[in-house]
Amino acid sequence: MAVWVRNMIMMTVFATALHLWLYTWSKQDNAYRFMRIRPTEQNDKFLGGQQLRDNVFWVLVSGVSIWSMYEVGFWLAYANGYAPFITFAENPIWFVLWFPLIGIWYSFHFYWAHRFLHWKPMYDRFHSVHHRNVTIGPWSGLSMHPVEHLIYISSLLIHLIIPSNPIHMLFHIYWLTLATATSHSGYESLVVGQSGRVTISTFFHQLHHRYFSCNYGNLELPMDRWFGSFNDGSSVETRRLFKKMREKNVKRK
Ligand SMILES: [Zn+2]
Ligand SMILES: [Zn+2]
Repeated sequence: MAVWVRNMIMMTVFATALHLWLYTWSKQDNAYRFMRIRPTEQNDKFLGGQQLRDNVFWVLVSGVSIWSMYEVGFWLAYANGYAPFITFAENPIWFVLWFPLIGIWYSFHFYWAHRFLHWKPMYDRFHSVHHRNVTIGPWSGLSMHPVEHLIYISSLLIHLIIPSNPIHMLFHIYWLTLATATSHSGYESLVVGQSGRVTISTFFHQLHHRYFSCNYGNLELPMDRWFGSFNDGSSVETRRLFKKMREKNVKRK
């Protein structure tokens, strides 16, 4: 329960802060913004008839609950010796090296889980909830059907096999959850101070929300290049994709 409350607070504060900053107060106007439309569309396809309301519902009710379930499961596993455990003092090299490798594992798992979710029966029932969001905002990232949350966060199960520290598990969990608010922010960068900026997302996943049948993975691991689903948004690539979509007769929902 304490974990759930803490996660609720963290997710709400993080996504709300980003949403207020970027959209409600438009603190950086359109600088580094991908699309003109706001992620607060009124449309009957959304729960409550409005995108933000719909997104907040799926994130908090399903997303945070399933994330907390996984997290509590891991705390119990560590406490009872079911998960292989290492400390920095015991194994400093592996302790440090495992962080970037988690990033690679995450990308690999995400790509295949995501492709599976685009298989029509899975897409129609579950993944279409996430794809209601053609324009995305901080609350859209973790706005998914509970079945998708279960699949997406199952990336964590690697810690039942690979020796880890709870710090690795938490790092992995926050990457899977909190980071969806930045990766779906709709902005490439956050402007800091007068001229500083921090990159928070890539155009890459934005294109996935727009065109559906490309860019299933992320840029950390070039899975889409290896498997021919890469689209960098340049006109040639996009034209090629449109042609492919016509041929496959992929209908947008
Ligand atoms: Zn997405
Ligand atoms: Zn998708």
